[in-house]
Amino acid sequence: MQICFQGAAKEVGRSSILIKGDKNILLDHGLKPLPKGVEFPLPIKEKVDAAFISHGHLDHLGAIPLIKTKTYGTEITSHLIRLLLTDTIKIAKQDGYFLGFDEEDVKYVSKNYQPIDYNEEIEIGNTVIKPIDAGHIPGSCMFLIENSLRLLYTGDFKLSDTRLVKGADVKEEADVLVMESTYSDKEHPDRLKEEAKFIDFINETLDNDGVMLLPAFAISRTQEILLILNEYGIKTPIFVDGMATYATEIINAYPELQKNYNSLKKAMQRLDIRYVEPPQRKKIIKEPCIIIAGSGMLEGGTMLEYVKRLHNKDNCSIAFTGFQVPGTAGYNLLKTGKIQIDGKELRVQASVKKFDFSSHASRSELFELVKKVNPQKIFCIHGEKTEEFANELQEIGFNAFAPENSCYDIDL
Ligand SMILES: [Zn+2]
Ligand SMILES: [Zn+2]
Repeated sequence: MQICFQGAAKEVGRSSILIKGDKNILLDHGLKPLPKGVEFPLPIKEKVDAAFISHGHLDHLGAIPLIKTKTYGTEITSHLIRLLLTDTIKIAKQDGYFLGFDEEDVKYVSKNYQPIDYNEEIEIGNTVIKPIDAGHIPGSCMFLIENSLRLLYTGDFKLSDTRLVKGADVKEEADVLVMESTYSDKEHPDRLKEEAKFIDFINETLDNDGVMLLPAFAISRTQEILLILNEYGIKTPIFVDGMATYATEIINAYPELQKNYNSLKKAMQRLDIRYVEPPQRKKIIKEPCIIIAGSGMLEGGTMLEYVKRLHNKDNCSIAFTGFQVPGTAGYNLLKTGKIQIDGKELRVQASVKKFDFSSHASRSELFELVKKVNPQKIFCIHGEKTEEFANELQEIGFNAFAPENSCYDIDL
């Protein structure tokens, strides 16, 4: 058996792993967004017999229309695939580049998609694949791949609960572990303390009659924020704009995938939530309110319209709700207090802060997973510091390795 990393080795983005045995099985096929364009995984020359998508994030599914095969994943993931790819095609058209696929290819993926349930075993040739709840976002999977050996691919995962989803409860041991290592050098702050600080910042802004802007990823983060706002009894009108409205409806359609059954819809009934149509944008910012919209790092998206209108109001605030990748507009705004919109540099008078509501495993959770799975070989991927992480795992006795985007034999 061979494992080929087509992407995500020594990087975050374009996750794509090809398992070559009697059949060729693809695990994820994502893309990496670039300032103007996207980066795809390395091209696959072999016939792919089946593809498995771990979850509904672009870095794990964005290139799947390039592969013509049967695709497996949870049912909710198929809806998120369609939502994300439709948006990606739209952005590519706006920005004037061709992705290499269009709406017809997205239809092909939907038509050839086989929804699977957690713990349902799928046979592909001599290999059995079992999806396990990864605790990252609704419908997220790890995949346990069994033939002559047992290989666990984590996708993105989290062991501890968030408000939206239950953490992963991994019981399986495996011979080979292919793991994400996004936060290999970082512990997340205590969740409740972080929430309290976040709510304080929101209340201060609203007390000053300001508008609170919450740039957030559409899938999972927006809904996590809504659950937090509900928990602290926020009474102010909350506006959700852009792709997040569709993602919220998709997640609402799967109440059983939420930590507390149907918690999102119940929270939304208690909160004063309103979806925004583009013509309303100008009007809603005249009164104190909370606005949730993308993109999470201010790389394009609806939120920029609000930032453009409110950047010079010192009673307004912007709270980032997740990690800001170096070089993105969000990262630069936090560093310099400035943002480029429509080719103009704006000095932002609104207060800007960042909060950590990550849906990824923290450093200690990564180590915890390794100990649970107890593998003979570990490939550390999906991180900026995979080599350092592999070295640390070696120091505590594991045979760990940070691969390149290349092929490796995995017979033990
Ligand atoms: Zn993810
Ligand atoms: Zn990822």
